[in-house]
Amino acid sequence: ADHAQPMFTLMEEVKTHVKNPTKGDAVVYWMRMEDLRTNDNTALSQASEHAEKAGKPLLVLFILSPQDYIAHDRSARRIDFTLRNLKNIQESLAKLHIPFCTLTHSPRTTLPSRVLSLLSEWSVTHLFANIEYEVDELRRDIEVCRLAKKEGKVQCTFLHDKCIVPPGVVTTKEGKGYTVYSPFLRSWLPHLSDKPNPLACAPAPRANPESVHSHNVFGKLFDVKVPEYVEGFQLKPTDAKQIRTCWGAGEDVAQEMLKRFLNTKSSSSRLGEVDPLAEGAKPAKNSDKDSRIAKYKDARDRVDADTTSRLSPYLAAGVISARECVRATMGLKNGKIDASRDTGIGRWVQEVAWRDFYTHVLAYFPRVSMGRPFLEKFADVKWETNEKHLQAWKDGRTGVPIVDAGMRQANTMGWMHNRVRMITAIYLVKDLMLDWRLGERYFMETLIDGDLASNNGGWQWSASTGVDPAPYFRIFNPYTQSRKADPTGEYIRHFVQELAEVRELHDPPAKLADKLGYPRPFMTHGEARERAIRRYKIPGEE
Ligand code: FAD
Repeated sequence: ADHAQPMFTLMEEVKTHVKNPTKGDAVVYWMRMEDLRTNDNTALSQASEHAEKAGKPLLVLFILSPQDYIAHDRSARRIDFTLRNLKNIQESLAKLHIPFCTLTHSPRTTLPSRVLSLLSEWSVTHLFANIEYEVDELRRDIEVCRLAKKEGKVQCTFLHDKCIVPPGVVTTKEGKGYTVYSPFLRSWLPHLSDKPNPLACAPAPRANPESVHSHNVFGKLFDVKVPEYVEGFQLKPTDAKQIRTCWGAGEDVAQEMLKRFLNTKSSSSRLGEVDPLAEGAKPAKNSDKDSRIAKYKDARDRVDADTTSRLSPYLAAGVISARECVRATMGLKNGKIDASRDTGIGRWVQEVAWRDFYTHVLAYFPRVSMGRPFLEKFADVKWETNEKHLQAWKDGRTGVPIVDAGMRQANTMGWMHNRVRMITAIYLVKDLMLDWRLGERYFMETLIDGDLASNNGGWQWSASTGVDPAPYFRIFNPYTQSRKADPTGEYIRHFVQELAEVRELHDPPAKLADKLGYPRPFMTHGEARERAIRRYKIPGEE
């Protein structure tokens, strides 16, 4: 159920309970899966400042929790990406004499007590962390605070960091969370000029004194290695090679990708399995007009070139902050914020605001992430249970080329363009009439940028069950969508190679498809559309 008081606000109540815990040896920053960076990281920055003032060393802790990864359908690709980023972070922190310690813990129910006993072992006075808004994670953190309060030794400080404007700040006049994006955006924008500035960069962590290396407990933490894999989440060697080429780890890679989005032209030769930093991104001669961000307003729905930033894996894992993305756009606008619908920069900032929006929705309406439709009136839609259709969708063998290209892109790259996410999702739910939760799960298991709030938001939008959804009767025609999104056919040609030589590749003639070993669609879109409308229609409603 939704909570009368959003759960994340409980953190405010529990965080200030220990009065000046001065006795002790260290300050800990507990890094989580969504804040894998050392720059512009609120909790790390505050922990470091606090440690310096208190004259205590800062230690950084990361806990791998395989049971949580199973519960959240985490993809092995995302876990591998996490570990690769952690190695970079460990190296950066070592240069500042800050020990970085990873440990693996199961079962997840005992994680809070494990944390408290570790803090006690290290004689920690302060724990800092950024808030994760998922229900299980909030429950875990509240339990950590409760135990800390009971023992009375550790002060816990949980901070907002993921969103540009934190949940709780952008509310309706009644103090509730928004359920429609446009008014949310209208209310969100003025907050960008708040004081303190929500876009300000959190100062970088300061170095620990070198003497920490010779401390009899903390010194040994420098030897703790980040594991190569988490049991149950190993990547197959060919997949590992591919994914690691597509998505290099580290803050420098994310920064460079952002820079390129702002300064280079888009290109169809950069479709598919590319190294994000490989040669091939052509500089925009006139960045104001030719760069990918300048063209974003008109080109963003085109899938036949690299029209978007491809920063989602880095934003989802917090390798770069959303604040930094918006600040970078201000650099192109003489320090001004552009969030208008009429420019490429403005449209991009609005997309970054969608990320805030869906996180706020999750924080206010946690039931959306617990398998419930936001619009409960659609809780009883009758779904098909056709395993063959589901598997064909997953494998990219539905016989609808744009859907198959999208699913094959997800399967090979661990990422999909937004327009194709919408097309493939609507096809699963409305054409195949399969439960949106099956698709939501498959995306989480496959994509490297799997983010519970955005993924759930995208799926419930597509299924017409969410906040601000596509109306149930407005069903994408995949063939019309395909011609609009991929007019050159480059996208389909790249991912559905059987059709590379076919002229009518958006909707290939059945006999030719048979000859090429490409499947025929299961049904016509017209038949499927009528069935979906029948199933969604609520008796008595227009
Ligand atoms: P850009 O167009 O360059 O946008 C910049 C950033 O803005 C993105 O990196 C992302 O952080 C944010 N953003 C853009 N569009 C959206 C959106 N509609 N909702 C929320 N944030 C947005 N995004 C995820 O990050 N993780 C997911 O698991 C995820 N699942 C999705 C599932 C479905 C069914 C749909 C329709 C969308 C989903 N999205 C998800 C949103 C969106 O498709 C991706 O963020 C986008 O395709 C990422 O590409 P990009 O980085 O090039 O985006």
